[in-house]
Amino acid sequence: MRKVYLDNAATTALSPRVLEKMTPYLTGIYGNASSPHSFGQAARAGVEHAREQVAKAINAEPGEIVFTGCGTESDDTVLFGAAERYAKKGDHIITTNVEHHAILHACAALEKRGLRVTYLPVDKDGLITPEQVRDAITDKTILVSVMAANNEIGTIMPIKEIASVCHERGVLFHTDAVQAIGHIPIDVKAMGIDMLSMSAHKFHGPKGVGVLYERKGIRLPSYIIGGEQEKGRRAGTENVAGIVGLGEAIELATANMEETSKRMIMLRDKLIAGIEASIPEVKLNGHRTKRLPNNVNFSIKYIEGESILLMLDMNGIAASSGSACTSGSLDPSHVLLALGLTHEVAHGSVRLTLGDDTTEEDIDYVLDVLPKVAHRLRAMSPICPAGVK
Ligand code: PLP
Repeated sequence: MRKVYLDNAATTALSPRVLEKMTPYLTGIYGNASSPHSFGQAARAGVEHAREQVAKAINAEPGEIVFTGCGTESDDTVLFGAAERYAKKGDHIITTNVEHHAILHACAALEKRGLRVTYLPVDKDGLITPEQVRDAITDKTILVSVMAANNEIGTIMPIKEIASVCHERGVLFHTDAVQAIGHIPIDVKAMGIDMLSMSAHKFHGPKGVGVLYERKGIRLPSYIIGGEQEKGRRAGTENVAGIVGLGEAIELATANMEETSKRMIMLRDKLIAGIEASIPEVKLNGHRTKRLPNNVNFSIKYIEGESILLMLDMNGIAASSGSACTSGSLDPSHVLLALGLTHEVAHGSVRLTLGDDTTEEDIDYVLDVLPKVAHRLRAMSPICPAGVK
């Protein structure tokens, strides 16, 4: 059976070129990057090269790059760090109601500690406006955190304009760019980004390694308490092979971004058009054009996302659902509900996210299988009106 992996927003395959660069650091170059001897210094050289690769990819300085354990850790470092560091200035944070749980659950934890958080509501496409941010800022606002692109619906936020509003009021701006890096150009200087989170496994790098970009002059406390690694900004022995892999992966992703994203947009739009042409009563979730090149998210009315996923999986296709049933809760995704979808429609959602290795044949295969799956499930659905197939 054909195997088609369309869950690249969850994680991507490790690029063979990245693995090749990592392998020496998993074998011969095993020194601790903080050790002064030659074994350690060989590892240190790998880490510092990766720091330069990351800095170049986002137009930062190497000294502004902190390696972390994942995107979640980078997000948490910013939120908890800002709350602690700027406690004297204020107690108010602004974010959106469609952020990843790495942001939302950290904000909820901060609220329990007495901070105030404004969750800006998105419009029907999943966007907020800079004016909403401007209106929400108060003298007590210490941080605005808005994701660069949404992990479920792929919507791309107006980050540069939001950053500019924050700076008018002297407020720091953080963006969770975990889904954006490698897909859309990110220039921290040109966009006015003060802090940014990324994660290697979303752009064909290894799992378990992330980056926090902190603009020069900002120095948040380390979230992981311990040794003096990363110049005291993140304790813990460096994941040298992971860091080397992240550096190589971001270099590859940004070097080929224009070409890859053109190809992905072509495949994405073919998939969107094909689904709309072959399945009646579907709704594309997220903005039609202001969306990541690799993201397709549809609600297929009258059927369950989980059943769609199971049947796709039986046909060799890996996708993801907008609903959180798999994580033990029957609540539909907070992102889809934030768009104004009813529970019923949100439950029938499926996310298909392309990777560098997705081919046109993969898309053709999905366009052959998905309409049949929808048709079969609708035939069994007690809520599907007669005549809708
Ligand atoms: N932020 C966003 C937007 C994400 O999509 C994810 C992962 O899905 C994360 C944060 C968390 O990243 P990590 O898996 O590296 O902790």
